[in-house]
Amino acid sequence: MDDKNNNFDNNDKNNDIIKNDDDNNYEDICYMCRRPESQTGRLLKMAGSFCVCADCMQKTFNLMNTGDIPGFPMDMSPTGKNNDKGNDNPNGGFNPFGFNIGYIGDIPKSQRLKKKHTESDTPEDEAHVLDFRRLPPPHKIKESLDEYVIGQEKAKKVISVAVYNHYKRVTKDAVGDIEIGKSNMLMIGPTGCGKTYLVQTLARILNVPLAITDATSLTEAGYIGDDVESVLSKLLMAADNDVERAETGIVFIDEIDKIAKKKNTTSRDVSGESVQQGLLRILEGAEVQVPVGATSKNAMVPMTTINTKNILFICGGAFPELDKIIKKRLLTGSGIGFNSILSDKYDEEDVLSHVNNEDLREFGMIPEFIGRLPVIYTLSGLDRDMLVKIMSEPKNAILKQYQKLLALDDVELFFDNDALEAIADKALEKQTGARGLRSIIEEFMLDIMYEIPKDRSIGRVTITRDYIESKGGPRIELHGASPLISPISEGGSH
Ligand code: ADP
Repeated sequence: MDDKNNNFDNNDKNNDIIKNDDDNNYEDICYMCRRPESQTGRLLKMAGSFCVCADCMQKTFNLMNTGDIPGFPMDMSPTGKNNDKGNDNPNGGFNPFGFNIGYIGDIPKSQRLKKKHTESDTPEDEAHVLDFRRLPPPHKIKESLDEYVIGQEKAKKVISVAVYNHYKRVTKDAVGDIEIGKSNMLMIGPTGCGKTYLVQTLARILNVPLAITDATSLTEAGYIGDDVESVLSKLLMAADNDVERAETGIVFIDEIDKIAKKKNTTSRDVSGESVQQGLLRILEGAEVQVPVGATSKNAMVPMTTINTKNILFICGGAFPELDKIIKKRLLTGSGIGFNSILSDKYDEEDVLSHVNNEDLREFGMIPEFIGRLPVIYTLSGLDRDMLVKIMSEPKNAILKQYQKLLALDDVELFFDNDALEAIADKALEKQTGARGLRSIIEEFMLDIMYEIPKDRSIGRVTITRDYIESKGGPRIELHGASPLISPISEGGSH
């Protein structure tokens, strides 16, 4: 092997080439037009893993006949020495492609598609195919969500029913002749209240692929940024390049409020209204050409077609100032004279829950876009009690995780109730919802995780409010002994 070939070997490793049994699960791809075998028809297999489709082969022959290929080595001899243009073909033999096919690397796994499921698939393969009969009813979906997501009762109920109906619709048998509409959703709620977390938990419960994307990264096709099709490429990646799985997956588009129509602008709105327009087609259900293993189209990336008809799209956003629009509408609709009383009433209650399409249009969402998100619901901001529960109650609660970590060192970890409240208060100050909790907890747990393993005699640590407020240390107890003085300095680095 010469240096060139060694380079290819290195590239191969970087590209995560598959050269094992798993290979059988992926389709071959035409090296010239990058289409998979399911689209091109049977591929001609050449040296190494180099494949080419009949169309490209024919085009190459046509070009050869016209002699239009610049620098094309015309040598067809077995040795490759009779080239009339003086080019040398080290492989010799018949090579109509004009380059040494021995140098060609394999197509990276990330750019290869899983083969379609067949009747003879093993039961494990079939487990990926969504089956309505295996889909849990709405109350079971909600029960599973309850184990992870605190509060947001209305949202959990709405999402459970919508998802149930959506997947019922996906299975043709259950639908019959009547066309059931898509249950795409719009979630409105302040930052850190669990929008993304709710969708992540849902996808995990249902065992469907999930792609999360940020609407702010999307731009109209042809401009800098990702095309709207990139959300489907991400879904395909999450489905391990299995088109059938991707076609029943979930796409979550966060920060959807950021693509509201820009007001008072004269320039072209490539990241706002145009993106909404671009999303219409995929939200509704269309056959979309998407690049495989990349989020942007280019000549070297294979393409495939994804039908979005059965993909569940969930959009989420904080929609700042939307409450003012809703309140204005509610007050305008009321009789003069009651305004001040009503205004006070709406100040106290959750105005967002009164949202309707008209308010969203006023905010800057185009009517066609809102029309494709028939299920609209709101999530409430988190209060102190909810934050305390989020820290301690869910199955994978952050405090449980730390307790487990310390238990491995044979140390019990406890939290005083008022310590939890102090942490919640700090998080409320940050105004980032539950998102702030982890950073606050991590900050003071760092000292605990650093100091405690130093002394094997420590059996129990209790986090107190004083410790959180930097006024004292945690309560330390030795194995089988009474409370000790904390080894962690008061008002430490937290
Ligand atoms: P956003 O509403 O901005 O999408 P996230 O869903 O990303 O907020 O929430 C951030 C983190 O806070 C989540 O990863 C989760 O751990 C926690 N969290 C937020 N809300 C809840 C909730 N209602 N129940 C349990 N955990 C939550």
